[in-house]
Amino acid sequence: MDIEDIQSPRDYLIYSKTQVHPYSPAIGKLLDLSAAYVQDAEQAYAQGQINAVWSRATGWEIPLAYASGIIPVAYSEMGRLSDMESVTIAEDYYQFPQETCSMVKCTVGQWHKRRGAGIKRIIGASVACEPYNLAWELMKKEGYDVHAIDVVYRAPGVKGERLEQLVQFLIEQIYETAEWLTGSREINEEKLRTEIQRKNRLIVKVRKILELRIKNPYYMRSLPSIYLLTGLNTYFGKPAAYEAVLDELIAELETAPVSKSELAKVIPLVWVGSAGQEFGIYEAIDQAGGALLGFRGYPFNNYDETLPPVEALARHVLGNQEAGASIYVQKVIEQELKKVKARGLVLYGYLGCSYGSVAREMWRDYFHKKGFPSINLEGTFQVGPPTGQILTRIRAFVEMLA
Ligand code: SF4
Repeated sequence: MDIEDIQSPRDYLIYSKTQVHPYSPAIGKLLDLSAAYVQDAEQAYAQGQINAVWSRATGWEIPLAYASGIIPVAYSEMGRLSDMESVTIAEDYYQFPQETCSMVKCTVGQWHKRRGAGIKRIIGASVACEPYNLAWELMKKEGYDVHAIDVVYRAPGVKGERLEQLVQFLIEQIYETAEWLTGSREINEEKLRTEIQRKNRLIVKVRKILELRIKNPYYMRSLPSIYLLTGLNTYFGKPAAYEAVLDELIAELETAPVSKSELAKVIPLVWVGSAGQEFGIYEAIDQAGGALLGFRGYPFNNYDETLPPVEALARHVLGNQEAGASIYVQKVIEQELKKVKARGLVLYGYLGCSYGSVAREMWRDYFHKKGFPSINLEGTFQVGPPTGQILTRIRAFVEMLA
């Protein structure tokens, strides 16, 4: 199958499982978990087996929801179910300007199709994304129950008393969200502690897999590697199944043979971006000999289990790369570049996202001065093959680094 033949992200998941990784039951299961995530959660919800909310793919609300007995379903994962119809609904019915980020238009179009049925509650985030802020208001009018959390922003150099104020602000947000989720401000601390312990345990396992990949980079190629990290946030709605996949993957990677000749050809790269929905980009990287070994989202930061769980949740947010200023991400990228001995950076974001494009330009400039080449790609969220132009650029970039 050629990249150009793949019409949807779903096709590509099947292709990756059956043609790229037929030797790995663990990778197959990881891709299956990812592919079935939204559909399985919606089905279980419809049958009254679970309580569920739409949530971000990352964020402190996820462990909180699990601790409250509620499955968080990442709305960004609806992207792969989307098509031009979703985009058209957003543009024509809701009057989103054409240049609006495709991620927002796809999710709005998908929610529109589910009006009056399915998961009715949305945890939104008033981060810096104006299109999504508009989406929350529109979805409220369409009958969804929306709770938009005010995300804290840690500016560069914020510490001491100012940081403590932010921690308290976030703790209050956590209690408000718990109240919205369950009807009570009371948080079951034991359950939250168990979630935090689980997250720490899984962080250790994912780090181990990423380390093993450095020694055997082609065993698990780019797409499942990205979804390994996405799963660490949501567990694809199935925490036990996700953990079992991690264990199986570690066992496979520890015993998989390494080809010395292939190892000599590897072009280590760091991926700086979200999980794009144009999966052919990953295939283009792989086919050119690249290996995404370092990630902006590398889970370097554990939860402090000695703290009360709500405080541990808040301090974890404010101590990791998503705390606010892009400088925090920059530090992680820098560590990743050194760790995987990367030859280049792939910066990926969505067309129409002014926030992301400013940050990417800043990183491009910073790392260029340090001698790291980078490519800045802007993609879209709807299904369909990636544009030929993007594929040509990424191939040329990786081949240039060879
Ligand atoms: S990519 Fe940018 S514009 Fe799109 S949803 Fe994210 S923050 Fe908003």
